[in-house]
Amino acid sequence: MQRTYKFRLYPSKAQEKELCSHLWISKELWNKLLDATIRKYDGEKKFPTKSEFQVMVKDSGLYSQTAQGIAHRLYRAVRAKVKAKKEGKKWGFPRFKSFDRMKSLYYPQNEIGFSLNKKLKVTPFGEINIKKHREIKGAIKTLTLKRESSGKWFAVFCAEQEPEQPKMNNGGRIGIDLGLMTFATLSNGEKIANPHHLKRHEERLAFFQRELSKKKKGSCHRKKAKKEVAKLHEKIANTRLDFLHKTANRLLSAYSRIAMEKLASREMIMHGHGKGINDASWGIFTNILAYKAENAGSKVVFVDPKNTSKECSGCGQLVDKTLWDRQHDCPSCGLSIDRDINAAINILTRATLRTTNRSQDSREQRLTTTVGMTGSNACEDGAMVPSVKQEAMTLPQGRSG
Ligand SMILES: [Zn+2]
Repeated sequence: MQRTYKFRLYPSKAQEKELCSHLWISKELWNKLLDATIRKYDGEKKFPTKSEFQVMVKDSGLYSQTAQGIAHRLYRAVRAKVKAKKEGKKWGFPRFKSFDRMKSLYYPQNEIGFSLNKKLKVTPFGEINIKKHREIKGAIKTLTLKRESSGKWFAVFCAEQEPEQPKMNNGGRIGIDLGLMTFATLSNGEKIANPHHLKRHEERLAFFQRELSKKKKGSCHRKKAKKEVAKLHEKIANTRLDFLHKTANRLLSAYSRIAMEKLASREMIMHGHGKGINDASWGIFTNILAYKAENAGSKVVFVDPKNTSKECSGCGQLVDKTLWDRQHDCPSCGLSIDRDINAAINILTRATLRTTNRSQDSREQRLTTTVGMTGSNACEDGAMVPSVKQEAMTLPQGRSG
């Protein structure tokens, strides 16, 4: 199993200059190779071979493995185009790159061009300061030095990891309702709030975006504002992802079976509900939970989301409510309970019913097939039509908090 690790780099001024110059050379090299490819094809109706590419990148001024990496990338892109054409598929031909579009330096082999200890030693930049916030498991295969739009540098390692034995998990079952007011409500009554600082960052982002739109095109101020916006975008994405990972880890270590609604988050975003923090997070969160479940020894079950908010978890009666009714009050059985907790209990009940409705054997078999196919422990109800989360549909825009 391959895993990637991304760490922030803190190059010195001199190193950054050197890194940028290598990106520049990479861009020039890419464009030169592409130009040669097109010329050769015009003349001979043939593309350069792998070894012809390798000869062309000699003495480029880049570290040899990095230069070979560029040749390899272009070679593969051309082959993909040829293959697609043969199969009658549409496929773009590789394009010339500007400096902004050339973002990474690739090191295909370990122990030759780089080594990682307290600092990252990379040919020919020397030792670069790195913030290694977690340990890399397994053998490092490749390194990519990456410059983001914000101007920050990162090291991305790809490591080959032995598959871990799934842990035994003796935790109980839980239903989770994802919401707009509260990020998640559990069927045991626990509420997980959205991180406060996320909202603050988002407000700042809105401010900077307004500022950016006022700046004159091509001006120095606009460039600066653009960088500011990119920085904030990155910060928000990181903060959000960090929160989602931590929440997923906590739930997976505590529960062996997690029930959630099956959400069509892409549809939600397309309908213009994609502005709030939550809508975007829901899909990512379910994804994280599903792929981490296997190693945690847990299972994630997705259930039909229809009427989970309306249905009474006590007696099953449908009780109409608007988004602003925060309480579920059942006229039939008298149950009075927080609306999100009511929904979370319904979600858990649906998952449990589904399990007991089928024989245990066939169910286990089905789960194993799912694991084999997708590499995760997510199991989905194939018979169900995806439907949009009711709250997202009924929420007027601009009131998502
Ligand atoms: Zn009831």
